[in-house]
Amino acid sequence: MRYDNLASSFLRLGCKVEMNAPMSRITSFRIGGPADLLVTASNYNDVISVKQICESQSIPLTYMGNGSNMLVSDKGVDGIVLRMDSKTGEPAIENDLVVCSAGVSLKKLCTFSKDAGLSGLEFAYGIPGSVGGAVYMNAGAYGGQFSDVVQWVDALFPDGQIRRVDTQGLKFGYRHSVFMENGAIVMAAAFRLTCDSPSSIAERMDEFMRRRRDKQPLEYPSAGSFFKRPEGFYAGALIEGSGLKGFSVGAAQVSDKHAGFIINRGGATCDEVIRLAEIVTKRVLLDSGITLEPEVRFVGRN
Ligand SMILES: Cc1cc2nc3c(=O)[nH]c(=O)nc-3n(C[C@H](O)[C@H](O)[C@H](O)COP(=O)(O)OP(=O)(O)OC[C@H]3O[C@@H](n4cnc5c(N)ncnc54)[C@H](O)[C@@H]3O)c2cc1C
Repeated sequence: MRYDNLASSFLRLGCKVEMNAPMSRITSFRIGGPADLLVTASNYNDVISVKQICESQSIPLTYMGNGSNMLVSDKGVDGIVLRMDSKTGEPAIENDLVVCSAGVSLKKLCTFSKDAGLSGLEFAYGIPGSVGGAVYMNAGAYGGQFSDVVQWVDALFPDGQIRRVDTQGLKFGYRHSVFMENGAIVMAAAFRLTCDSPSSIAERMDEFMRRRRDKQPLEYPSAGSFFKRPEGFYAGALIEGSGLKGFSVGAAQVSDKHAGFIINRGGATCDEVIRLAEIVTKRVLLDSGITLEPEVRFVGRN
């Protein structure tokens, strides 16, 4: 009943709403029970309003991008899951920077930059996330990461204010940003890129995409590399060294193509993934003395 009333309020704002929305449908892992209410906003005023309503009624709010780095509980998610409609917003060039709203896909941002003859985001082509999720995670690949190119970020802070955060304030580290500490929602980001010919940029993008197809199990649902890279090592190599390539718990499996990926072979549960990750972590620690930490973000009811 509580969510019926809320759903009507959000619909009146112009958002799309769905009650008991299966998170397995909207995450790249294809895992996760229902969110009490999934809200898809088409502009940032709606994000602000939804956030205010949740706060005033003490309703838990989980913000998501494209769901490509999330492992969602089989029991689902309490309260509201909020995301931006990925069709909203186009990258643009403003004062020598590429400016882009957070809900836009990395694919769109990279293609726009390439067409404009602006280089620096080639590494991100093929990462299946949104701009907001990539800034939050400081996503990276092939020697590049978002912290190399982000100039500023506009974010909605828990006090309801939108503020611009510059490079110093972003506290970027390996798969880390200030937004993991302050709970703000990334709304837009600006990127400083350099001039190059679209054909050279396209060549690099295609090469990175080819490497992904060769090395990664893209034919199965996953959340990408499950573990962070421990300093001086590769998680995949450590896992392989422990003889766990192809090891599975139920339908969750350490990929036999790339041991850094945990894949869903069809109908895997969150519990299975967690049990598998625990076994992998314990075995690698025993064999190499290195503690693997998940890169994937756990979301939902315990
Ligand atoms: C096949 C595959 C390959 C991948 N390859 C790579 C890779 O090469 N490099 C890499 O770094 N990652 C990789 N990933 C992981 C993932 O794509 C990235 O981490 C991506 O940046 C996540 O973006 P997202 O929009 O999907 O975020 P989500 O998965 O939706 O969210 C991830 C986290 O970000 C938070 N978040 C999302 N949007 C916002 C926002 N606007 N404001 C505040 N918080 C927000 C969420 O609350 C959550 O905690 C891969 C994943 C897959 C499935």
